[in-house]
Order: sequence, then structure tokens, then C-alpha cells
Amino acid sequence: MTVGTIPFNRPSLRGNELSYIQDAVARGHLSGDGYYTKRCHTLLGELHGGSRVFLTTSCTHALEMAALLLEVKPGDEVIVPSFTFVSTVNAFVLRGARPVFVDIRPDTFNMDESQVVSRLTPRTRAIVPVHYAGVACEMDSILEIAGSREIPVVEDNAHGLFGAYRGKPLGTLGALSTLSFHETKNVSCGEGGALVVNDPRYVERAEILREKGTDRSRFFRGEVDRYTWADIGSSYLPSDLLAAFLLAQLEERESSQARRREIWTRYVRELGPWANSRGIGLPVAPADCSQPWHLFHLLFPSLEVRQAAIAHLKERGVHAVFHYLPLHLSPMGLRFGSRPGDCPVTESVSDRILRLPLYTDLSVDDQSRVLDAMLAFG
Ligand SMILES: *Cc1c(COP(=O)(O)O)cnc(C)c1O
Repeated sequence: MTVGTIPFNRPSLRGNELSYIQDAVARGHLSGDGYYTKRCHTLLGELHGGSRVFLTTSCTHALEMAALLLEVKPGDEVIVPSFTFVSTVNAFVLRGARPVFVDIRPDTFNMDESQVVSRLTPRTRAIVPVHYAGVACEMDSILEIAGSREIPVVEDNAHGLFGAYRGKPLGTLGALSTLSFHETKNVSCGEGGALVVNDPRYVERAEILREKGTDRSRFFRGEVDRYTWADIGSSYLPSDLLAAFLLAQLEERESSQARRREIWTRYVRELGPWANSRGIGLPVAPADCSQPWHLFHLLFPSLEVRQAAIAHLKERGVHAVFHYLPLHLSPMGLRFGSRPGDCPVTESVSDRILRLPLYTDLSVDDQSRVLDAMLAFG
């Protein structure tokens, strides 16, 4: 049992991380695309129906690669939720695009698919749904809207590895998708990510952009006799040391996902009656969405009650947090002309949401402490 405050998140080692790192060192290849990176590529490819996967230094960088691959340029528009992490949007803004914010659905907190059509213009260059908590967006609608106009869809799947929509793995639905292996995600190497390329047209260029704009990967495969500057690009590949750590985590996905599922379902089971009698919302996952137990949240009736709950938990040694300040109301978002009231559901959820500690190593006793503390709140 944790003495002192139960953190909101803590990295959880699954067993082989350090021995794999040691082995990577012994193999004498510490830069990118070594033995462990290739094994991660294979495993992640299998988890994505055979699509090409490229490890990156972060999900942010995978999103930047997506914007480069789609040749997003000044004057273009991208349709994005306001209720998301900055990188979903910043990666496209970095290329000169203007974000067009869409509100979220009040049940799943995902992009409200019914509002997408009204946001389209001839300048729309991409639609970027975020599968919040790994619960899928209404992808059939979004893909139909996008497909009929040949607008690429980029899934920000930072939360959704191991999730599925109507039997299909999340991250395989758009032309491109991105993963995060940041410390706070289900599978982690501290800082890391991946770009999943579902549309094969983008594979060759993705490989070059990721390797500083060179055809070094083709050179290493013996397809060209020297490598050279072939395109724009940057350095988006992580060290094989990080891939070694990541592979150890990926290989243990069944046990870690099983544990997260237990924690998540126990929260619902033990908080359900308390929450229902107080008008506190529990997470909603539609029947056709299989979720990866990434995060657990409660929706309080008001900002005041939410803030009181955070203070109450803090006094009892539990660190609970909220997230996603609406991007359209951030200093940067306002520069694109947004106003309060543009995304009313986002604004309301952002004020009222609370996330409870959920990490793979959260012990039964520590979860009991969180539950006792929460149930003692009014
Ligand atoms: C964590 C996260 C990111 C950024 O991931 P990094 O790997 O830290 O760059 C992007 N989008 C969403 C929705 C996230 O939760």
C-alpha cells in the first residue's frame, strides 16, 4: 500500500524492460531502426491488420509526420475537436493550417460527427478524430463524410491502442493514425509514439520524412548504393534502447490490459450507486466500441462540486486531475477567432470532469483508498 499520496499515474514495469535494454546495448546498435525497433514494427503492424507502422519519438511527432505527408499548407483547414491534447491541433498549425474546432458528444466526449459537415469548406484538408479514452468516435459517419469528398482522416489514437470499433482495431480506420507511448499511456517507453500508415500511398514518403528526408532506409536494405537527400524531413525515429523498453511492455499487453480492466470495472461497480444518486456521470462506451481501459473519469454536476471533490481527495491522499482545457478558448485558439460558447459541450465537460488514478500497477489496497475517499464525498 502506498504511504502518502496515491499518484494520478505511475510508470509500471512489466518485467523484461531492463534486460531488453541490456541486450540492445550488447547488440551494439543504439540508434534508431535496430533489432528492437523492427520487432516493435512487426508486432504493432500485426495489431493493425498488417499496416506499416513506424516508431516515432512521440505521438506529437507522428502527428507532425501526418501533416507533412498530407502536404498541409498555409490556408488549409483541419477539422479537430477542441477537447483534446494540444498536439492533435498544433501539428497541423505548425504547417500553417487553421484549426476548425468541432464540439464533442455529451456521452463519449468524442468529436460530434453530426457537426462535421457544417464545418467543411473547399479548404478542408483533413479530419482528425480523437478516440477519447480509447472509445471510438462514430467512424462510419466520419469516414463517409470524408470519403465522399476525398478528405483524408487522421486518427489521433493516443488513447486507443487495443481498442476497436465494430470489430476493427482503432488506428486502422483512417488513412493514417498515431499512437503515444508517453509515460501516462497504457504501454509506454517514457516518451515515444508511432505512425500507422493504412493507406499504402504514404508508406514510401513516410520512411523518408522520418529519416531526415533521406533514403537511408532503402540504402540499408540494399535497394540503392548510397543514400542522399530526397525530400523534406526531420529526425523522428527513437533510439533502439527505447524500442527495447517498449517491446517488453507490448509483449505483456494481455496481463497489463487485464489488470487495467479489473481496476476500471471495479471503479464502476463500487462507485455506480453513489454516482447515480448524486447526478454524477460515469463513462459511456457504446456497444460497438471495445475500449482499452485507458482512463477513468467522473462527470460532476458543476465546476464547484468538481473542485470540491479534488480538494476532498487531496486531503485524503489521492491525487485526482482534470484535463483538456478547451483548445478553442486557449490563448492560441483565440488567435484563430474562436469565442466562448463556440463548443458548449466541450466547455461544460472541461469544467466538470475528474479523472481518478488508473495505472497498471495500482494495487487493490490503493484502489480501496481511492474508493473510500471518493465515497466519503457528500
Ligand atoms: C498523449 C496525447 C498526445 C501526445 O502524445 P505524446 O506522445 O506525448 O506526444 C496526443 N494526443 C492525445 C489525445 C494524447 O492523449
